[in-house]
Amino acid sequence: MRKYVSIYAIWTLLFVGTASVEAEMNVVTTTSDLASIAKEIGGSLIKVKALVKGYQDPHYIQPKPSYMVKMNRADLLIYQGLELEIGWLSVLIDGARNPNIRLGQRGHLDASKNISKLEVAGGKVDRSMGDIHPYGNPHYHLNPENGLIIAKSIYDKLSELDAGNSHLYKSNLSRFQEKLKEKISAWKNRMNAYRGTQIVSYHKLWSYFARYFNLVVVDTVEAKPGIPPSTKHLSKLTALMNRHKVKVILQANFYESTFANLVAEKTGSIVVRLPAFVGGTSDAKDYFSLFDTIIEELHKVLQTKP
Ligand SMILES: [Zn+2]
Repeated sequence: MRKYVSIYAIWTLLFVGTASVEAEMNVVTTTSDLASIAKEIGGSLIKVKALVKGYQDPHYIQPKPSYMVKMNRADLLIYQGLELEIGWLSVLIDGARNPNIRLGQRGHLDASKNISKLEVAGGKVDRSMGDIHPYGNPHYHLNPENGLIIAKSIYDKLSELDAGNSHLYKSNLSRFQEKLKEKISAWKNRMNAYRGTQIVSYHKLWSYFARYFNLVVVDTVEAKPGIPPSTKHLSKLTALMNRHKVKVILQANFYESTFANLVAEKTGSIVVRLPAFVGGTSDAKDYFSLFDTIIEELHKVLQTKP
């Protein structure tokens, strides 16, 4: 019995000792895609929490005290940037009372920093133009090659904060890059048959995706981002779609389909509601299966369309 107890005591000591050496870093991300990529790079060395669920619209999130609690304990905050979170993130950062994650501090990472931005607005931008993103379209995670850039930025940051484990982050990064590159070539093969297909999107959410996979977005159901379309815009859009024989309207599944359905009815097109973020549907479990799901859904629709 005494022997048993002492072995148990050694075990406990060992366990506690190990646990304190390998304390996980707390990482909070705004979107679930950033969380998924961070998890790939951080592995068991980090604990990741995303604030926004994949089936929620990340432009408009109600800042909740529970988010501030998560951020209060975070070693690192990763966000999409380009003003995607402009309506709510700064309130949360202020409320979190965690100096480490504030702008300019080490625990603050804007994942857009190395991305080549699309749709950077020239000239003056004001609220009458809708919820426009003047520094570029923030939905860059839907170009899968940007996943590689996001992963590298996260790797750099984790290595800076936790230099002792840099080699582990490096091997996770290599594994992620290898897998993603393999997946990307399969996705490109799958989408190759649909090069040049003209589509309409609800919000400018699919710009990076469309450009990468050579789809042509002829217009959007929203005339101004975040503002419901006017009747005038909808009839212009209907005429345009009929003229160009556009058969597909892409829409993230957190948007209301009323307007898209209306246009679809008048143009004989189909509204494809897709997950735009990890967790947007139960199939889209991580960054890889998000694209698997989107591309499979699109393939199903596009292969039957003339
Ligand atoms: Zn947007």
